[in-house]
Amino acid sequence: MNDLAEYYDGFLVDLDGVVHLGWQPLPGAVRALAELSRRGKGIVFLTNDPRLGRAAVATRLRGLGIAAEADSVVTSGWAAAVRVADTRGQVYVIGSPELRAEVAGAGATVLSSAEAGIADRILVGGHSGFDYAELVAACRAGDNGAELFATNRDATFPMPEGPWPATGAILAAVETALGRRARSIGKPEPEIFHVARALLGPGRIAVIGDRMDTDILGGHRAGLATILVHQGPDRPVGEPAPDHVVTCLAELLHPR
Ligand SMILES: [Mg+2]
Repeated sequence: MNDLAEYYDGFLVDLDGVVHLGWQPLPGAVRALAELSRRGKGIVFLTNDPRLGRAAVATRLRGLGIAAEADSVVTSGWAAAVRVADTRGQVYVIGSPELRAEVAGAGATVLSSAEAGIADRILVGGHSGFDYAELVAACRAGDNGAELFATNRDATFPMPEGPWPATGAILAAVETALGRRARSIGKPEPEIFHVARALLGPGRIAVIGDRMDTDILGGHRAGLATILVHQGPDRPVGEPAPDHVVTCLAELLHPR
């Protein structure tokens, strides 16, 4: 009897709402990931959360009992950092200290708010320290012709007590002030999936995620198989439909 995991050689696994919720592990997730690794499946963790660096995400995953290294983690922040640093220019970053460090680590010069007027590019990533002064600095940069990038467009991220505002909420303020739309790198854009896919060997790869509008849409756009993690009585509707629907990661290992 085959289980769903047998059909694939590797997985791009979303974090929030699949592996953990607010850094509390979801039931069965840690054991399921260990079993997938034991079977030799490739696993890359793929998150739209731009607030932490790859190494910090890996450290938190290890704290949950999951074998993870920085090079098996792709964040929208890291993928966007690599993209905005590809010209080795000067970047004004609205985002966490960790996001600024990712951009500097990728080879760009990260400007302060006072220096933002000379930026070649602006990168927006959600963070809890967002304030009006950052919006003013982004305006200066944008007014002088800086290109506008975003880590992602998620309006919210899940927390145990309910959704919190994410990058999209802050990006809306920046886009409104600048009067133009950012180029986003994270899910559902194919770019981040291509970056993550490149970290796995050849074979059949599936995206696992809990959001139709980011994980499933983006995986489909990138030409990958898709598995929706969804609890509750109503199967979510929308196009493209996921290839499979499971209630939790452990269900990948249930005989079918
Ligand atoms: Mg999620």
